[in-house]
Amino acid sequence: MTVMDYELMARLSEADGVSSQEGEVAGIMVAEFKKRGLKTEVDNFGNVLAYKTLGRNPLILAAHMDEIGLMVKHIDEKGFLRFIKIGGIDDRTLANQQIILRTPLGLVNGVIGMKPPHIMKDEERKSVVGHGSLFIDIGAGSDKEARLMGAEIGCVATFPTKFCRLGKKMMCGKALDNRIGCYVLLELSKGLPDNVVLMGTSQEEVSTFGKGAMTASYRLEPRAFIAVDTSVAGDHPELKPDDAPLALGKGPCIALVEAGARGNVADRKLAQNLLRLAKKAKVKVQIEVFDGGATDASSVHNIKGGIPSIAVGIATRYIHSTVGVAHEDDIRMSIKLLGEIAREL
Ligand SMILES: [Zn+2]
Repeated sequence: MTVMDYELMARLSEADGVSSQEGEVAGIMVAEFKKRGLKTEVDNFGNVLAYKTLGRNPLILAAHMDEIGLMVKHIDEKGFLRFIKIGGIDDRTLANQQIILRTPLGLVNGVIGMKPPHIMKDEERKSVVGHGSLFIDIGAGSDKEARLMGAEIGCVATFPTKFCRLGKKMMCGKALDNRIGCYVLLELSKGLPDNVVLMGTSQEEVSTFGKGAMTASYRLEPRAFIAVDTSVAGDHPELKPDDAPLALGKGPCIALVEAGARGNVADRKLAQNLLRLAKKAKVKVQIEVFDGGATDASSVHNIKGGIPSIAVGIATRYIHSTVGVAHEDDIRMSIKLLGEIAREL
């Protein structure tokens, strides 16, 4: 199996790509696909497509490039910024975090401020401070100074979390959902069969189901669609196996049902093929039936007369926070399994 390229994984995790502004991630993807000898294109919606050859009804393997973040909605007279959330962020993960604001004049440091606990009333201390009561402090003294620093309504912010290794085989970083998927696609470039598209998708985090995957798949009419994404791991002290049975290091997660079957219900043949190939390639897998979330597969399965779709997930702890944790064995086993199915389908 391939050796994990932690330098590349760190670059992907630390790149900024709030939904609809995936350019920095797309740039890395295009450059790395080209280095690996593939043809690339970026479509109208910001999706990155890479392939050796492209014909009718390709197989698509897709990973979303975007991440959750914040967007400025108001600048007050003292230079503090109010914001909306882009994608599913738990308000509890926001308070007193450092942020990086992306402005037309460049990157600007900031912090998310709130009332300190000393001043809170008893009831306030017990409840979550909603994002509407939080604000971004960029160290400006006024509205005018904030604007001179580059702050504008519509600027996006992400978190400056540094990627790091945890223990021997684990890693921690922001946006592991879904830069891990992006990493897997890049690793699949080598020996890619004809008429298989590796696709970095845009705007997965900002609709019930992914937007970019849908627009690109509508155009390409794939014979099958496989989303490569992260799955919620439940192997820590605050979750029980019946809440979230997936664990780190136990292999790729084959998602049979997403979003409590409101999303994709995996194509049976695709699921059976993946399970058969996993056995053949001696890759351990975990079966996922998920009530809570969805992947790009959910936005593709029911277009153009129906497209056989499934998601393969890499179990990740603390998903949708700035400190996702994942295991390299799951990444390597996913690359192996997806390489097998790309050759067979
Ligand atoms: Zn995701």
